[in-house]
Amino acid sequence: LQRVAARRGITGYEVDAKYDATANTVSGDMVANFTPDKDTDRVVMRLWPNGPDSASHGGKIQLSAASVDAVPHELQLANATTAFTEAPLKADKKIRFRVHFTITLPRGTDDRLSRIGDTVRLGSWLPLLPWEPEVGWALDPPTSAFAEASLSVHANFDVRLSVPEGLQVAASGTDVGGYHFRLDGAPDWAAVIGKFTGVHGSSSEFPITVSIEQSMSDAPAPYLARVEASLRELAKRYGAYPWPAFNLVLTPGMHGGIEYPGLVMQGPNTNARTTPHEVAHQWFYGLVGNDQGRDPWLDEGLATWAEGQINGSYSEFRSRSIPGDARNHLGEPMTFWDAHEGSYYRGVYVQGLQALAALGVSPAAVDCALARYVAANAHRVATPKALADALATVAPDAASVLARYGAQRVS
Ligand SMILES: [Zn+2]
Repeated sequence: LQRVAARRGITGYEVDAKYDATANTVSGDMVANFTPDKDTDRVVMRLWPNGPDSASHGGKIQLSAASVDAVPHELQLANATTAFTEAPLKADKKIRFRVHFTITLPRGTDDRLSRIGDTVRLGSWLPLLPWEPEVGWALDPPTSAFAEASLSVHANFDVRLSVPEGLQVAASGTDVGGYHFRLDGAPDWAAVIGKFTGVHGSSSEFPITVSIEQSMSDAPAPYLARVEASLRELAKRYGAYPWPAFNLVLTPGMHGGIEYPGLVMQGPNTNARTTPHEVAHQWFYGLVGNDQGRDPWLDEGLATWAEGQINGSYSEFRSRSIPGDARNHLGEPMTFWDAHEGSYYRGVYVQGLQALAALGVSPAAVDCALARYVAANAHRVATPKALADALATVAPDAASVLARYGAQRVS
């Protein structure tokens, strides 16, 4: 199985950040080496620490000292989760954009950005530039659900994270020394800071680590076994695992799991169903990105499909009923699901699997089409049409079947 090379000319981020436990902040500088493929009049940054869940627990991010090619630029807020600076940029001309950030950590949030005692979950924290090639800036509003609303645009990350003595860091990518991490062609970069007990896996191609926050009673070995089996089964179906390392980190004060490239965050007692699902996101969200605000079913439906294939739960998912307010609304954006939160899981995750099952071909044939979808869209932002096109190679009426379930923009 071949790894698909990352796109050339994608944004490169250099981040130098420091966790100050006394001040309860993570602050630092982010440099984006950014080349738009169309003219634009601004640089946009997403401020997810200002999103509703984080903000209601005291979390926030503040930016300062923005510059474009070393020339200072004034920062403006479009809304709480979107900042921009005016700058006329030319297509295919690279700029070096720098900004300073200070994040005040929300405490006790059951979500991706949270501080619980000594432990810090650092997910969706950087003020990344949501530029979608051939499209432009993606400005989806934040969601109040236990979900993500960002566009996953692939970039190369070079992140230095300094933490107080005695704390460890588990993070996306390769540690090239002293918590200096590199990860290429990935939609985001995340870390967990804390005190862990860990076990290491035995893949010959890349390191696998399960880290468990030291106060928790979960045993690491069963998690490691399920991670290894899931990685193996998924690679067989959808192509090689795309990152240089895999980390699963269990922390308290959290239910379920949250995926980042090469790093999965899970709460206690989550091995049975959450582990294979989050590992599947390494392909569907990680390797193949999507606009999680506009098309949440693309990554959640496909991760649930993959989970069903490798975890023996396919038949059960197929027979689950879909609530009336979600039925045939598969393709709705997060703004719809915020108002139908009780139906989000079945309407997007379960119904996504059911729409693929309704294609009327074998699960192996669907998997074959999904492998084509991965190969054709690796390190890119996929659209519903890209999925329908791949599925049409095994089920010619795929677009109309998906549309019947409420998928939008499939043809
Ligand atoms: Zn998921």
